[in-house]
Amino acid sequence: NIRNVLVIGGAGYIGSHQVKKLNEKGYHVIVYDNLSTGYRDLVTVGTLEEGDLADKDRLREVFSKYDIDAVMHFAAFIEVGESVKNPAKYYRNNVINVINLLDVMLEYKIKNFIFSSTAAVYGQAENMPIKESKIKQPINPYGKSKLMIEEILKDYDKAYGLKYTSFRYFNASGADESGIIGEKHNPETHLIPLILQTALGEREQIYIFGTDYNTKDGTCIRDFIHVNDIAEAHIKGLERLFKGEESESFNLGSGKGYSVKEIIDKTKEVTNIDFKVKEAERRKGDPAVLIADFSKAKQILGWEPKYNLEKIINTAWNWHKK
Ligand code: UDP
Repeated sequence: NIRNVLVIGGAGYIGSHQVKKLNEKGYHVIVYDNLSTGYRDLVTVGTLEEGDLADKDRLREVFSKYDIDAVMHFAAFIEVGESVKNPAKYYRNNVINVINLLDVMLEYKIKNFIFSSTAAVYGQAENMPIKESKIKQPINPYGKSKLMIEEILKDYDKAYGLKYTSFRYFNASGADESGIIGEKHNPETHLIPLILQTALGEREQIYIFGTDYNTKDGTCIRDFIHVNDIAEAHIKGLERLFKGEESESFNLGSGKGYSVKEIIDKTKEVTNIDFKVKEAERRKGDPAVLIADFSKAKQILGWEPKYNLEKIINTAWNWHKK
């Protein structure tokens, strides 16, 4: 009895790793993606159904065609800086389109949902690492859009019995060891891929956004978590839903923080390439430090990260070189 999992945004960076992992675990995967920021060639297994979440009739077609057991959502816009400049884009896709999806799921009585949330729901935090129970005060529209869906999910669970697992990613990074899928954004805005592009000579320099933060070296500190560790957690979250367990939200991070400068230095070491680094102004909407406490995921899901920073940069480098 093979389960069908519908992966919204399965042609994107994290989604494509999830699709590969689901396939390896014996699930049948259907990818729903409008290919606006995803890539056809990142879908290496499963069936691609092109479509947009704004198009409820197209969604209904797909839900009618397959007997879907669960839905995973990876189709959000994710750039903090852009969300500050163009919040409408974020609220439309990250909120309204997800409500469309939930509407159609409920029409088809599908009540298992896995949602990609973010550490950005927490906003500034005084105390690290961050636990799930921390007060949520997102400081940018991206984080707010994700928190809105988390709140909506709570109400849909109470009212409609929709069961969800929400994962708050810290900094998703790295690539599959196969080298056939990896992080690809256009334009690229994320730290590790930008550093690697600089190492490859595709960019003249890497900019450090802000050197006056209240951190040990003045640059922001982030918690990097490998994309396959994220995918593994989702499998465990999915199995929990199939067992009929209650809705939950989990942090996904490594529990370790590295500064932007440390990431740059580590990349120089891994690639054995020296490149130009330039200090620049702060980017709007960035909290100084984000580090996860993942003990809840460890306790309830039996999950813990397997990839350290070196492996993250190595696998990402392996992909970028190709
Ligand atoms: N960053 C940077 N230079 C860049 C891109 C990012 O200094 O070219 C910093 C950014 O300001 C943040 C950290 O690197 O402090 C991680 O940013 P990214 O966009 O990768 O992920 P986010 O934490 O926003 O999800």
